[in-house]
Amino acid sequence: MATFSKQPSVFQTPGCAGQAGASAVRSQPDPPESLAPLSPGRVWSRKGPKPSLRHHQPVRGQPLEAAPMAHQNLAQQRLLIKGGKVVNDDRSVVADVYVEDGVVRQVGPNLNPEPPTGLIVLDATNKLVIPGGIDTHTHMQFPFMGSRSKDDFYTGTKAAIAGGTTMIIDFAIPQKGCSLTEAFDTWKSWADPKVCCDYALHVAVTWWSNKVKEEMKSLVQNKGVNSFKMFMAYKDLYMVNDEELYAAFSCCKELGAVAQVHAENGELIAQGAKKMLAMGITGPEGHELCRPEEVEAEATQRAITIANAVNCPLFVVHVMSKSAARVISNARREGKVVYGEPIAASLGTDGTNYWNKDWAHAAAYVMGPPLRPDPSTPGFLMNLLANDDLSVTGTDNCTFDICQKALGKDDFTKIPNGVNGVEDRMSVIWEKGVYSGKMDENRFVAVTSTNAAKIFNLYPKKGRIAVGSDADIVIWDPKATRTISAKTHHQANNFNIFEGMVCHGVPVATISRGKVVYEGGAFNVTAGEGKYVSRPPFPPYVYKRVRQREQVCQPVPVKRAPYTDVVSAASITPK
Ligand SMILES: [Zn+2]
Repeated sequence: MATFSKQPSVFQTPGCAGQAGASAVRSQPDPPESLAPLSPGRVWSRKGPKPSLRHHQPVRGQPLEAAPMAHQNLAQQRLLIKGGKVVNDDRSVVADVYVEDGVVRQVGPNLNPEPPTGLIVLDATNKLVIPGGIDTHTHMQFPFMGSRSKDDFYTGTKAAIAGGTTMIIDFAIPQKGCSLTEAFDTWKSWADPKVCCDYALHVAVTWWSNKVKEEMKSLVQNKGVNSFKMFMAYKDLYMVNDEELYAAFSCCKELGAVAQVHAENGELIAQGAKKMLAMGITGPEGHELCRPEEVEAEATQRAITIANAVNCPLFVVHVMSKSAARVISNARREGKVVYGEPIAASLGTDGTNYWNKDWAHAAAYVMGPPLRPDPSTPGFLMNLLANDDLSVTGTDNCTFDICQKALGKDDFTKIPNGVNGVEDRMSVIWEKGVYSGKMDENRFVAVTSTNAAKIFNLYPKKGRIAVGSDADIVIWDPKATRTISAKTHHQANNFNIFEGMVCHGVPVATISRGKVVYEGGAFNVTAGEGKYVSRPPFPPYVYKRVRQREQVCQPVPVKRAPYTDVVSAASITPK
């Protein structure tokens, strides 16, 4: 677990979590000042010394069977979160939140749900109660570049809930010529038995044919997929050309899906890589040098132009550079329906690490598109995120340990691309965004969950705390701090790109599907407890404008009287 400079757990958890779930009673009244509560409920002694006992410790490294098997009957779990500040994207209000059967049933002052028996009470006084984070971009157990990412759907989603994220959207990525549906089914079969929180799948379009088009339609209509990602990079592997992009964007628009792009010019990268290797640059710095930020900006501009030509909404994944962010910002000001997703890595660190003298350190930061050596990039991206030029945040979590990275020890093009982030995204954004004064708590919620829920049509089930919403909730201590470290994180790899960063903003409890799955450093979750979430097409947040434009912004021919005068054909025989 992370190192906390302030005791993060404010909840007494007597016995094992299972007992707490089975026999917890409501805490009333508040316990005496100096007495750590001993009742079976989860009670925070607000004025007295903070409870020091933790009855269940993190189960990191233990086999799945060892994870606590508490709260078997989720339908019976009832929670009351008392006295916290409930923060949504549009307002904050001090209120209690009552949860039953995994759904928020009441939000308001002084709730007293009946009966008190079996009610678990969490005291959130002086804490924020926020919608669980939605990470729009992960690659768990992804077979890629001769390896497979270390975090699988179990460790990855467990790390997610430890960081206050209660939903991930991963990518099913078929090889060229292979079935999209089969890829979807494969990824789902990997995820279903392992996920500790809810998840969904974007599907990648890596080639084009009528079969692909039919499969996209079937995925939208039968499998709850409403987003497709196209790669403009990874030549010969995943890359599609402009004609294929045009076809895929047109299909997305027809189906009511959101088109996503990995925006980098794959041809330029291929040429640049050859050039660097020929110059004897084989280390991780070559990775950035062969694909500088204009390579990202050019592709971003091209994707926006093509999407706009077919009136298709566009979502640019992993915005890594100032140039690409400016392109998106300008396009939004021109009225284009485009969304930019900076990630924890691009907001929290930079590409100067590629020039580190320690090869392993430098290689650990290799991802595509690369982090940028301009150290003002993270702050710039955060400004744009705060001001709605950029919309949501993901992580591109795709972890490889040092030994896996070493596949490219003599050639940077063979270093598996990917970094961590799923656990630390919320804290990094709080620290760099909210604590720094760039955004307020409401904007924080917007960019960590609400906007993602709106764009991918999960709202208000996800991304909001309101009656009827899923009880995916985080109790967030904005004043507590923690130091990020690979020694204490819950991810499966042995490196953390945010190593040593001190972050204000700590999730003290994470509630997923109405159950407390993480609390003060301890897990209470079993593999497979999360569920696949279907996403219907035509998210209104995205498609209202698109549909209206379709109706009223079509070019029409000018009505004229027909031309009736002489038509002179060019002479084909020279005089
Ligand atoms: Zn990715």
